[in-house]
Amino acid sequence: KVSSLEPREDHRICVCVRKRPLNQRETTMKDLDIITIPSDNVVMVHESKQKVDLTRYLENQTFCFDHAFDDTASNELVYQFTAQPLVESIFRRGMATCFAYGQTGSGKTHTMGGAFSGGDQDCSKGIYALVAQDVFLLLKTRAYEKLDLKVYGTFFEIYGGKVYDLLNWKKKLQVLEDGNQQMQVVGLQEQEVCSVEDVLNLVELGNSCRTSGQTSVNAHSSRSHAVFQIILKSGGKLHGKFSLVDLAGNERGADTAKANRKRQLEGAEINKSLLALKECIRALGQNKSHTPFRASKLTQVLRDSFIGQNSSTCMIATISPGMASCENTLNTLRYANRVK
Ligand code: ADP
Ligand code: MG
Repeated sequence: KVSSLEPREDHRICVCVRKRPLNQRETTMKDLDIITIPSDNVVMVHESKQKVDLTRYLENQTFCFDHAFDDTASNELVYQFTAQPLVESIFRRGMATCFAYGQTGSGKTHTMGGAFSGGDQDCSKGIYALVAQDVFLLLKTRAYEKLDLKVYGTFFEIYGGKVYDLLNWKKKLQVLEDGNQQMQVVGLQEQEVCSVEDVLNLVELGNSCRTSGQTSVNAHSSRSHAVFQIILKSGGKLHGKFSLVDLAGNERGADTAKANRKRQLEGAEINKSLLALKECIRALGQNKSHTPFRASKLTQVLRDSFIGQNSSTCMIATISPGMASCENTLNTLRYANRVK
């Protein structure tokens, strides 16, 4: 089943949008659902304050993507159209990357499967777990068994332009360029994993490390990028890598005047890295020779994901359905549209 989903050679970038359901708070506040998904690759934003009737709105904006998922889509379905087609490429020496991009609270962590976003979710059902599941399946197939591959996991966070190891008590790490122009996160913990359970234990360990000492889980996670990687090695050498990135919230502080200095700096850093990311993904898609990966720590760390013939990327742009999120939703859709 897995092997039939080959990555398309001509298409190294896949950009999808996922809408979450209105939540309790939005429903209580009588927020309006202004997003419709009229077909499986179209997103419409109905900006008017009022529905004209049940089916008509006053103003629409339409966006097209590789896929668009409505609020009934499961993580498994989203996975099948985004990360799953890339899994096998890492067995063929590829570098695969999957990004979750969107406003805080729009469903990035729900999709990726890190726990602790709402407290009530099962972290075993997200993309981390689904990729791990397929990696261990493929490892045992005839085609790849003989490669004698070992599987490792890393989990780190990028906050304020600094890298912190989530598998090693948030140790601050340096990023250096080696003689082969490879970027190395010096001293990053690589833990060998032998099963999906091992992977989930790593995720759980990293998540508890990520949030320790924080008053609000989402307040912290929304300001940092979390990178979880599944690495294949053969004879101690890198064979392939899948990076799963839960990006910092893309919302702009509308009240920057009120926000304190620390928040302003955080916001500027996030903006810079998300802009750099967009440029790097676009360069990959257009097969440009120059990739501006030096512009941020995030893109430096992910350098080998953007360079080379064997790199492929998918982005899941998550959006909130409510009228109150309209501005952020439009920004997310415009960004995702530009990445294509
Ligand atoms: P983010 O990581 O983008 O800040 P979360 O993943 O933490 O957002 O999601 C915020 C809340 O919305 C969580 O309680 C989560 O369980 C819920 N949620 C997000 N996406 C969905 C979805 N597709 N279906 C149901 N609940 C969702
Ligand atoms: Mg989150």
